[in-house]
Amino acid sequence: MGTQPVSRENEMIQVEALTKQFGAFRAVNGISFNIARGEILGLLGPNGAGKTTTLRMLTGFLKPTSGTIRVAGQPMDDQGLALKRMMGYLPESAPLYHDLLVFDYLRYVAEIRGLRAGARIERIRQLADICQIGDVMHKPIGVLSKGYKQRVGLAHAMMSDPQILILDEPTSGLDPNQIVEIREIIRQIGREKTVVLSTHILPEAEATCDRILIIHQGTIVADGATDQIKRSAAGEQRIHLTVAHADPEAVRDRLGKIDGVADVATETPANGTLPVVLVCRGEADLRGAVYHEIRQTDWDLLEFYRETQTLETIFRKLTRED
Ligand code: ATP
Repeated sequence: MGTQPVSRENEMIQVEALTKQFGAFRAVNGISFNIARGEILGLLGPNGAGKTTTLRMLTGFLKPTSGTIRVAGQPMDDQGLALKRMMGYLPESAPLYHDLLVFDYLRYVAEIRGLRAGARIERIRQLADICQIGDVMHKPIGVLSKGYKQRVGLAHAMMSDPQILILDEPTSGLDPNQIVEIREIIRQIGREKTVVLSTHILPEAEATCDRILIIHQGTIVADGATDQIKRSAAGEQRIHLTVAHADPEAVRDRLGKIDGVADVATETPANGTLPVVLVCRGEADLRGAVYHEIRQTDWDLLEFYRETQTLETIFRKLTRED
């Protein structure tokens, strides 16, 4: 899935140099990316990054200022309506009729979506199962919890069995249990469908998506599976050690000669122990080489670990305001 190179025929959505300008303000600034069939892609970014604007262009609700969107190989502007039918869209706050019972609401959606009269009940039954709303079918939408309302919105978006589902902040405002439930439903749906969702919640993106695009001020600042993003955005790794009976200059000299070590920072020795930080270039794991060097000395090795960057640190680095 997201970690594999994607062949062209496997691409469901192709976005090329997409830009959206609101007056003088450029909300989306020439972004390009592809989404493979059956992929769950997360658009991750802080408030105002351009996620909703991008999703609205993907669904055909908003016309791009420039750039192209192809869905299943067809340009969006030529085939707008036909391609829209391939998509289900759950906007950030789904417009639901609060007085209607869930069942009546979904029957109404089935009707306006053009499902045959004989097929409607069966489809609602399937959706009740997929979205886990069987037990609230005969309740008014207005009395449902936010989590259930969101599931009804999801059932709405999936009524015509679209191949692509576009979900704008699907877990926004939900409590932690509801988040886990919706996430599980999305993962199930993602086994068969292409899903694009937006979120500004990092663990959300990490837990639900095969691949993540980090968007900042209308541009893509990272694209890949979470592991790939962690590795490539890191650019450098740090190895921390604490040694005893070691002269700082000898430490800097010996460890600084290891291929891939860009810098050796030693702190002031305290109680005969010396904290050391090695800054390493590239992705290679240098722990073996470092340990090998230390074994040839009479230093005592008290502590030794590689710092791993969390997605959170990377996200903050990539989306700082400067
Ligand atoms: P959030 O997480 O807050 O929903 P977002 O990443 O979805 O943020 P967008 O809603 O796409 O961000 O908005 C991107 C920028 O474009 C924001 O600065 C927003 O104010 C601006 N914007 C969005 N829609 C319009 C519009 N119709 N007219 C003018 N500016 C707009």
